[in-house]
Amino acid sequence: MNYLKKELYDLIKSDESIFDFIQESSLDGLWYWDLEQPEEEWMNPKFWITLGFDPKEMPHKASAWQHLIFPEDLKLATQNIQKHLADPSFPYNQIVRYRHKDGSTVWIRCRGLAIKDKNGNPTRVLGAHTDITQQKRKEQLLIETNRIARVGAWELDLNTNTLFWSEVTKEIHEVAPDFQPNMEAGINFYKEGKSRETITKCMDDAIAEGKAFDVELQLVTAKQREVWVRAIGHPVFYEGNCSRIYGVFQDINERKVVAEKLRHLSILESKSKEMEQFAYIASHDLREPLTTIKGYLNLLKEEFSRKMSADANHILEYTIGAASRMDELIHGLLDYSRLSQIKELKKVDGNQIIHDVLVDLSAQIAETKAAFEIQTLPTITAYPLELKLLFQNLISNALKFKKNNIIPKISISHRQVKKGWEFKVTDNGIGIEEAAQERIFYIFQRIHKQKYAGTGIGLANCKKIVELHNGDIWVDSALGKHSSFYFTILTEDI
Ligand code: ADP
Repeated sequence: MNYLKKELYDLIKSDESIFDFIQESSLDGLWYWDLEQPEEEWMNPKFWITLGFDPKEMPHKASAWQHLIFPEDLKLATQNIQKHLADPSFPYNQIVRYRHKDGSTVWIRCRGLAIKDKNGNPTRVLGAHTDITQQKRKEQLLIETNRIARVGAWELDLNTNTLFWSEVTKEIHEVAPDFQPNMEAGINFYKEGKSRETITKCMDDAIAEGKAFDVELQLVTAKQREVWVRAIGHPVFYEGNCSRIYGVFQDINERKVVAEKLRHLSILESKSKEMEQFAYIASHDLREPLTTIKGYLNLLKEEFSRKMSADANHILEYTIGAASRMDELIHGLLDYSRLSQIKELKKVDGNQIIHDVLVDLSAQIAETKAAFEIQTLPTITAYPLELKLLFQNLISNALKFKKNNIIPKISISHRQVKKGWEFKVTDNGIGIEEAAQERIFYIFQRIHKQKYAGTGIGLANCKKIVELHNGDIWVDSALGKHSSFYFTILTEDI
């Protein structure tokens, strides 16, 4: 034995202060337990200080700490001590949790050594505590923050050919916590095709050439869900060979899905802008030759109708009618394409709008003898001209699509909703079959073409106007009975 070690042994025997120095300075607790009288146990002061208690007040009894240790850990500790007593080669070395006096958890690495009597029977156990709470807290924090960020870790050891996945990595793969991954299984989780080919190449290049990788790929989880992940890998070389690759694994599905949706939306938006542009240019340019055609047709009628046969006159009238209709359509299309131009939101009195609309429609109202029931409407933030056009389209449709010999009854009401208002225009007209109720809001869609004149642009305009106000429009109708058009104006927070 080294002479200094021998000297220390002797010192401990002769000088108590040496033993005290060792146990106080190098450990967070020391205990010595009498197996013949199991309630007897000596604990050093540090044992109690680590758990937040005053050593002077604590008895040297096993029962003094047994209600502080977590019950499930005590059970395991007891089993392991028994194993160690039966077979000293089985080390007693485990982590247990205690409740600190302030209620927090203290993590202790507890080691024990059986001490035998002259006959070789264990009669005492000597134990040592190391406080590992700080380390455990950091571990816990790392796991929790990783879970929030959906970031996991992985490591491939090429010497032993083992693959390690952290808890979060397992969660992202949707496998059980005790799942044992290997390299082949790990790669097979990647979606067949581009993703699997890419990861295979990344791993090959990392091993052969020491190339790190950072790729975004698709994975099919154990629950058959497709998710986007970011896989980062760093190879480590030892004596010219790749010994391990470690890295990070992140769930980026949400970001990818949102980005994909945004991309889609922006394509749609630019397509619809293109359409609008086209409609504007086409309608604008078509107007000019049409005005010429209309002019010449009228000239023809004025100058030559008396000289033409009845049949020719009939054809001429028919052509003039068609040209007027075309003019109406072009006008509508032009209005429609102009609707999304930027304007100014203003406070508008709903009652004033309805009043103006009814004045404009007075001829139609007088003709149909329509009866109105109108709630007092609020003042709202909106685009005034567009809001008027919206009500005008709905009310004129309610007057137009009336039942034969039945006086139209039209009611207008509203209610407050989150961030705005919902309006309702109801009539007792011919109604709309369910299958057509969505379609009528698209341009040129008309379902009562034969009997009623129109362009099929009115409700498309309404939809556009409502969307300018961040709202929605829909219909509730029963064929042959009634129609209720609802729309929302959500501009109160703009
Ligand atoms: P238009 O009135 O010029 O035909 P709209 O876009 O305003 O075009 O309406 C589209 C179609 O929806 C109409 O052709 C009609 O078939 C149906 N519709 C609209 N409003 C009503 C209503 N109040 N009652 C029954 N059908 C309606």
